[in-house]
Amino acid sequence: MEFYIPTKVYHEDGAVLNHSAEIASLGRKAFIVTGKSSAVKTGALDDVIKALESNDTDYILYDKIEENPSVEAIMEATDTGRGHGADFVIGIGGGSPMDAAKAIALMVQNRDTAEEVLYKELKIKALPVAEVPTTCGTGSEVTPYAILTRNDKKTKQSIKHRIYPSVACIDAKYLKYAPVSVIRNTAIDALCHLIESYFNKKSTEYTKMLCKYGFRTWAKNRVALFDGKDFTYENYNQLLFASTLAGMAISHTGTSIPHGLSYYLTYNKNIPHGKAVGIFLPGYLNFMKKSLASDYNSVISDIGFDDLEEFKLFIKCCVGEFCITDKDICEMVQEMLANPVKLSSVPYDIGEKELRDIIEYIR
Ligand code: NAP
Ligand code: ZN
Repeated sequence: MEFYIPTKVYHEDGAVLNHSAEIASLGRKAFIVTGKSSAVKTGALDDVIKALESNDTDYILYDKIEENPSVEAIMEATDTGRGHGADFVIGIGGGSPMDAAKAIALMVQNRDTAEEVLYKELKIKALPVAEVPTTCGTGSEVTPYAILTRNDKKTKQSIKHRIYPSVACIDAKYLKYAPVSVIRNTAIDALCHLIESYFNKKSTEYTKMLCKYGFRTWAKNRVALFDGKDFTYENYNQLLFASTLAGMAISHTGTSIPHGLSYYLTYNKNIPHGKAVGIFLPGYLNFMKKSLASDYNSVISDIGFDDLEEFKLFIKCCVGEFCITDKDICEMVQEMLANPVKLSSVPYDIGEKELRDIIEYIR
């Protein structure tokens, strides 16, 4: 068994300001990468700027990262980072800016390379990265993954390079500005990570330990998620904790079928990541039940449900409306069958029929 998480994690109120010297010590000039507005709204950008200024560290701000960042968007940001001589990167926001920060750190460090490098297996390093999450889903602050939209392949895919952030500053106060839909979608994404990692050929006792603790932590918040209101600081803090644990688990196992299927929905139907994966989670658990997965009953109970039917109703309430046509199903199944990495993560036999059952279970 192997377990390796090199990211220094600070999970506390005031994490950024408390550890400003450590963030600033990553380099001389920071390239701050954010989405369009949440980093300002949450106060996270303000904290990062204060942290840098109090340590006399220079910075430039790039605030144009959109949801599901594309390879083209990374290259545009890279031009700015290269032009200003940045030597470390700080990502602030949800998974989109945090993933973008990693890919930009790779491309800025390797100045003379072009976008093809992102998807080539090469031994090259990235600039140091610090991450500040403002959603409770991706765990990107501790994972080595950066998932980008590939317009050339009409899907989303993680870059080939494993880039672990050096520092993650996790502070629940940034979540209180997020709309209910963002909290629900990202909390469901974290649950998918936990379940897809738990039922996974690469899972170990270490990753299962993270998942089990993550299940129980996540379950404490299921009523608030269902009601979609009255979230407390403690809810945000626990959901962030669960998503970071899930990130540590998928760093070792990767994700599985719900993630593999979701990329089609996000690319073709613009469905947010957490919602797109959540749609397939009841079907994936039903597949585990039918495959007689030994821990199936304990997982359902650990995540706070009596049975799968109750879980399916919960997911339907949280994700809201969506439409999957027969054509979508055919295309998703074909895309999945052509993805040996995701298929090989499944601990039981899976083929076209099982994939169709997983997709159709929620309809
Ligand atoms: P996101 O795409 O980063 O953000 C979704 C929306 O929420 C954006 O409009 C964003 O606004 C807003 N937002 C974020 N935090 C907010 C806050 N605290 N208050 C108000 N609004 C807020 O969402 P995400 O679900 O966290 O990330 C999804 C991406 O992560 C996908 O690309 C997915 O593939 C990737 N992902 C990566 C990993 C990994 O291991 N690296 C794992 C799973 C998923 P702004 O645009 O203004 O910021
Ligand atoms: Zn995910």
